[in-house]
Amino acid sequence: MRCNKSELIASAHLDQRLTQNEAMKYQAHVGICADCRGYLVELEQVSLILKSSWRPDAPRDLRRHIMSVITAK
Ligand SMILES: [Zn+2]
Repeated sequence: MRCNKSELIASAHLDQRLTQNEAMKYQAHVGICADCRGYLVELEQVSLILKSSWRPDAPRDLRRHIMSVITAK
């Protein structure tokens, strides 16, 4: 089952279209929702490839998780 928050909010997050409050709520949600976390990782990988740079505001835990996913492949 796919979480209904995942796709729209994840892409808005990556495009920095969320308010600070929305971004904080989203990041908290990603911390507990494996579905959204997986989707965000996918989007981050695409974003990384396209932009070759990290979001400076990415939470460290999430960044570390993404790096572990990327380097595992
Ligand atoms: Zn979710």
